[in-house]
This record gives sequence, structure tokens and C-alpha cells, in this order.
Amino acid sequence: MELLWERNEMEVASFAVAKRLTEKNLFILDMDGTIYLDRTPIPGAIDFVCWLKARQKDFVFLTNNSSKSSETYYKNLACMGFEIDRENLCTSNHATILFLKDRFPNQRVLFMGTSDAAEEYKKQGIDLALPFDRCMDSAYDVAVLGYDTGLSYEKLKNFCHWVRKGLFYISTHPDINCPSLEGPLPDNGAMIALIRASTGRSPDMVLGKPQTEMLNLLLKRFGREKAETLIIGDRLYTDIRMGAENGVDTLLVLSGETKEESIPNERDPKGVDPIFPTFVSRSLSETLAFVLKMEA
Ligand SMILES: [Mg+2]
Repeated sequence: MELLWERNEMEVASFAVAKRLTEKNLFILDMDGTIYLDRTPIPGAIDFVCWLKARQKDFVFLTNNSSKSSETYYKNLACMGFEIDRENLCTSNHATILFLKDRFPNQRVLFMGTSDAAEEYKKQGIDLALPFDRCMDSAYDVAVLGYDTGLSYEKLKNFCHWVRKGLFYISTHPDINCPSLEGPLPDNGAMIALIRASTGRSPDMVLGKPQTEMLNLLLKRFGREKAETLIIGDRLYTDIRMGAENGVDTLLVLSGETKEESIPNERDPKGVDPIFPTFVSRSLSETLAFVLKMEA
């Protein structure tokens, strides 16, 4: 594990680390806590993306946050100053839509999520309803739990009703909390625990990071190999785990969920199942400054 701020002081070793970073050709960047918090870009993130473009690197913003449609993400990212093409974005909704089309073609889906996200599923041909009382007379084949920032008791009780009936149950992602400027916000992992307490069931499938399929989907999209890929993110059990379990180098940034004192290391693994990042940087700003210094 390489701490970039320590490497900044050591010229020879720094050069080797910078070379490993700059030789990557596909950069997979997490969003919440890595490139922005709420709607505020993290300092250095826009410049880092400009650096990627100037070096003609492939890059993709990959988020587990399924509360918004791709269209909303494009608009929000553009407002923040991130100018990207459609191929530069992938969400756990994309992975879920592909999974549904593959495993449950033409079946009816009950989706606990936002109306905005639901529109994306419908545009992709998924026959889907939100769990409102008025929709409860129909029959469903699959239950999908998305990050529902418009959650109501009506939706929750109806969703639990159908989970209890034994439908195949999917969560778009496992994140327990979503980082924000106000602090952690309850996310899908917290909802999974609530639904388990009520129904006794856990999801049959949890998509999103660290699931290998998300990574394979992106390697295929860009025609890249694992060895030339770097995953950058702020969370150990999603972003960094996806790389660590699949032989892909990772860069942990400390601008979101993970704090310096909770980084596991060989002497202090911080638990029974430690996840070791390849590189650690305080933020993308520090990463860019490090790389530029070594390029000069
Ligand atoms: Mg994050």
C-alpha cells in the first residue's frame, strides 16, 4: 500500500508510483465522496478529469447511487462543471436493467425507488410499477430495491408485502450510508436491514460495486484489460473491494467516507476481513498534484 503524501517526500520511489498511476488507460471513478459531495465538486476533481482527457485516457464515473436516472446525472454533472459523454457514466441502475433483461425478460417488476429512476427502467423497456396502494391489485415477478429518497410508509409496507410473498428480490447496491455534506444518509444497506427485520428475507441478488459484473461490463465497454485499469473511490467495502477481489489496482481517496485512522494495514488490519487499497491519497487534488510533479 502506497500513501501518496509520504511518497511526495521521496523522489525515487515516488517516480515509480507515479509511473504506475499514469500508465493506466481506464480510470473508474466513484462519484459521491470522490468527485463531489451533494452537488459540490470536490476540489481538484474537475482538474483531474481535465488531466485524464488531455492524456486521452478512458474514464467512467461509476456510482452505486440508484436514486437518479442517467439523464439527471448528466444534467447535474454538467451544472457542476464535469463535461462527459454518455459512455463516461455507469450507475447501478444500468447493471440492474441489464440483469433484469437477461434473467427476467418481459416480467413485471415492483420497484421501490424514485420516479426519476423508474423512468429510466421504463425507457429501457422494463414493465415496472412503484409500490403504491393503487398498484397492489396487479401481480409481480421481481422486487427491486433502489435508493428511494422519496420513501414513504405506503411504499415500504407494500414492498415488504411482496417480498414476504417470495418474489425474487434484488437490491441495486449494498451501500449502508450515502455520504453528504450533512453527514451519512441511510442508503440501501440500511433498508435491506429494515426489510430483513420485517420479512426475514435478504436480497437474492445485490448488484452494484463490488459485484464483478459491474467491472466486466466496463472493461468490455472500453476494450481494456484489468492490468491497465485503476479504480478510484472513497469506500473500502464497495470501490476498493471491487478492485481488490478482481486483481485491479485501486486508489482510496479520503475525501468521503473513509478516514485516515480506519485505513487497514498489515500491522493493524482493522477487522477480520481487511481490504487493502493499492494507493491512498487524501483527495484527487493531491493525486493530481503528485502526478503533475512527477511528470515535470
Ligand atoms: Mg463514494
